[in-house]
Amino acid sequence: MKALVIGGGIGGLASAIGLRRVGWDVEVFERATRLDEVGAGISLWRNALAALDRLGVSAALKGLGVEGQTGAFRAPDGSILLDMKAGPIDTSREGVILLLHRAELLGVLIDALGRDSVRTDARLVGFEQDADGVTARFADGREARGDVLLGADGLRSTVRAALFGAEPPRYGGYTAWRAVVEFDPSRLVPGETWGRGRRFGQWGMTGGRAYWYATQTVPEGGGDPPRGRKRGLLDLFDGWHEPIADLIRATDESAILRNDVYDRPPLRRWSDGRVALLGDAAHPMTPDMGQGACQAIEDAVALADALAQVGPAEVPAALRSYESRRIPRASRIVRASHQAGTIAQWSNPLACKLREALLRSRFVARKQAEQLAWMIEPT
Ligand SMILES: Cc1cc2nc3c(=O)[nH]c(=O)nc-3n(C[C@H](O)[C@H](O)[C@H](O)COP(=O)(O)OP(=O)(O)OC[C@H]3O[C@@H](n4cnc5c(N)ncnc54)[C@H](O)[C@@H]3O)c2cc1C
Repeated sequence: MKALVIGGGIGGLASAIGLRRVGWDVEVFERATRLDEVGAGISLWRNALAALDRLGVSAALKGLGVEGQTGAFRAPDGSILLDMKAGPIDTSREGVILLLHRAELLGVLIDALGRDSVRTDARLVGFEQDADGVTARFADGREARGDVLLGADGLRSTVRAALFGAEPPRYGGYTAWRAVVEFDPSRLVPGETWGRGRRFGQWGMTGGRAYWYATQTVPEGGGDPPRGRKRGLLDLFDGWHEPIADLIRATDESAILRNDVYDRPPLRRWSDGRVALLGDAAHPMTPDMGQGACQAIEDAVALADALAQVGPAEVPAALRSYESRRIPRASRIVRASHQAGTIAQWSNPLACKLREALLRSRFVARKQAEQLAWMIEPT
């Protein structure tokens, strides 16, 4: 049995590893000329760590990430609005959240799969399926044939457009900057700081590095100010608590990434016949719950479970079972992330005051913990 996986990101590689473990022959096709991830950090919650364990890669991840950081939501003056020590989402406990570098996570996945299984410079342009299999066509004229085709080709997925139409993604209303920088870990205050229409997050990583990110509510498609990206960020967070300005100052202008944030409303189906979606191709979400890649890794495990021990004729039914297991949970997280992002990016002064008061109340802390508890529970 042969699987064609389109896209060599976290979701594509994880699903290829999962299928290989249940006996499939797998080929991954990536349009880029080399496998790479952006120079940023990533947080993996407990649900993803459990799924990575099922994929057999958790031992290789040990030592690459930092666990047990006591996080908090703060006001721009540094006062704590809500600490993350509440019950099941206590980030100071081992095994709740792991912070690591995206490229290092990708490196572990590539090593586990083996580079020989990946074709780079392979941009999918179309596919056809029949009763016996599916044929993928690539931009350079190549073709490949398999029993299943998995679209792990991200936010602007070609596979999704072919299956369900080419709708543009939905703008989340804000832009995000990210960077990794060498920084004294003892000076970091892990967590997120919320102001009016902007946020700043910081977490420790291994090797004396810090991962920071910043957001601002802006119209879609904006550029950097004439004085530059770094200067613009220093102005944006002027007067905010330490060490925010120092983190920005310590970062090379060229190391600061910027992306407008998008998601898509949930789909009712992720598969058609022998073709299915996973990861951002299936359920792109705003990063407000830190679950996009975590959900892609859960997809990988569910796909391997569904496709284990099936014959060629049973592939469409197995993909239906995969999507019925995964769609309700992933869709709920898409909606929760969208809602959290909307509230977190409020800029109206009265609304922000109300938000601060709610965050400082114990009732909200309990509710927040309850909301995150189901999300990070291993499935
Ligand atoms: C600012 C920000 C912060 C985030 N933070 C977190 C976090 O802390 N934790 C978390 O879990 N998630 C986070 N996410 C979400 C996470 O990055 C994504 O959900 C995850 O990377 C999706 O992986 P993927 O493999 O599905 O898609 P992608 O990573 O987009 O990979 C898709 C791959 O497909 C390839 N491709 C595309 N089209 C074709 C084609 N036609 N042919 C062949 N190849 C193709 C692309 O080149 C790419 O390599 C964040 C996202 C953002 C924007």
